[in-house]
Amino acid sequence: MERFRHMRITVLGTRGSAPVCGNDYATFGGNTSCYLVEVGGESIFLDAGTGLMGAPGSFERDPVILLSHLHADHLLGLGMYERIGLSGATTKLFVPASDAECARTAIERLYSPPLWPIRLSDYKGNLQIDVLPKNMRIGDVTVETEQGSHPGTCLLIKVRYAQKTLVYATDFEHGEEASMRLAEFSRNADLVLYDGQYSNEQYESHRSFGHSTPDEGVALMNRCGARHMLIVHHDPHSTDSTLLSRERALSHPKIRFAREGEMIEL
Ligand SMILES: [Zn+2]
Ligand SMILES: [Zn+2]
Repeated sequence: MERFRHMRITVLGTRGSAPVCGNDYATFGGNTSCYLVEVGGESIFLDAGTGLMGAPGSFERDPVILLSHLHADHLLGLGMYERIGLSGATTKLFVPASDAECARTAIERLYSPPLWPIRLSDYKGNLQIDVLPKNMRIGDVTVETEQGSHPGTCLLIKVRYAQKTLVYATDFEHGEEASMRLAEFSRNADLVLYDGQYSNEQYESHRSFGHSTPDEGVALMNRCGARHMLIVHHDPHSTDSTLLSRERALSHPKIRFAREGEMIEL
């Protein structure tokens, strides 16, 4: 039972915007956003980017996918996830939307012709789609959401269990009000996943694209008192050598850049 007191996060995909592959991406990985959180006997995926394709298909309890928002890089793995095609296998998908019908319609917009060869209803698995609300419980695990800062919308997601707290702040653009809101939401978290897609120079030419920088991650750490931070949503143009040199330049004892395949125990 002891292991259930811990929260285990597996980084399945940490690339932003579009997947990449090749030797230049071997260290940080090329799959788009997907993180598996195992806690309290539950299996909770944060986002369904191409990283979801590498996830296990069977679980003791039905897994849950929490979608931060509907941009394709956070959704592209769903249609190729083996469990969705398994007869009788239930997967619960929670989507930012006004009601359950809107949530389903939003997912079906990508997963139907002409953008996808088949419809969601053609998959053999039981995919249950519902609204990702402000607060919810998954077994004994608490989930809270808060408005982020991104074109369209993107929710900040907090997962809590047995005094362990994880905050997922992907696709987040810093700004006075938004950064204060995130700092409050992340207060004393054990781990924050923070969008650091751009260097400071790149950010200047990508204002209002909805992403942030590692330096803003440092500012957030100083404000919110979180214990650790992983920089996520790596730009598809950033090779391993670019990301390694940025991580080295940051030289912060509590902040690292997320690497696909790594596991973190809280
Ligand atoms: Zn994204
Ligand atoms: Zn986005």
